Amino acid sequence: MTLLELRDVTVTYRGTAGEVPAVRGVSLDLAAGQALGVAGESGSGKSTLAMALLRLLPRDARVSGEILLDGEDVLTMKWGRLRAVRWASASVVFQGAQHALNPVRRIEDQLAEPLLVHGLATPAAARRKVAELLEQVGMPAWRARGYPHELSGGQRQRVMIAMALACSPRLIIADEPTTALDVMIQAQVLALIRSLIAEHGIGMIMISHDLSVLASMCDRLAVMYAGRVVESGPSHEVFQDA
Ligand code: ADP
Ligand code: ADP
Repeated sequence: MTLLELRDVTVTYRGTAGEVPAVRGVSLDLAAGQALGVAGESGSGKSTLAMALLRLLPRDARVSGEILLDGEDVLTMKWGRLRAVRWASASVVFQGAQHALNPVRRIEDQLAEPLLVHGLATPAAARRKVAELLEQVGMPAWRARGYPHELSGGQRQRVMIAMALACSPRLIIADEPTTALDVMIQAQVLALIRSLIAEHGIGMIMISHDLSVLASMCDRLAVMYAGRVVESGPSHEVFQDA
């Protein structure tokens, strides 16, 4: 079954220069267990599209069309349902500061939070789950008793991935998950994401300006230009045309 279906999705920001459509009539499908890469130059609308998927856009943005997650439209969902769908059905790994870690909370507490907030685990079960998540992403458990500034960039990104996996989502949205990392660490983090999504049969949308990263991670590729998908298909085919 189709995990995610986008139908004619348009996103407009009401900026100082008037109404600027950042995403124009995008339609895409993603099957469970599949990885879709979204490529395109800076400003082509990739991040806007990624944020629209869970309605994480700024208030001045307007979205139209349909975003069906397991057949349910994210855009018309009631607020309470949307809160449950975020984390439990789909989860985001951002490169940027948008959903960065809280500098004054212990890492283990931040990892446990989505589980506790959504009533998915008791405090004791959440502690066990956090230990398990840290092991999955290759982080020593004692690190989690510390704070984000005590970690390297690669370790922080591992924590973000652990957080995205905390509630066992069916879809991961990865927006430039490794861009801030140096090349060696980048390769490690990408290998980690790939093994985790394969192992758990998770669908993924990965946004990147780096075609080689997308080609190594994704089954299919969509290329955006000025807010539109101008090309899409199996990675190797799209690559041949590039
Ligand atoms: P990409 O991720 O491909 O770099 P973005 O989605 O960030 O592209 O941006 C797409 C377009 O929307 C750009 O023209 C950008 O200037 C504009 N844009 C992005 N965020 C905002 C915002 N909060 N308000 C107004 N315009 C924005
Ligand atoms: P707030 O501070 O109002 O909770 P945020 O902008 O941090 O707002 O997040 C908005 C919503 O998105 C929150 O309900 C949060 O649960 C959810 N959210 C934040 N980060 C993620 C993520 N990585 N994956 C899924 N949902 C997220």
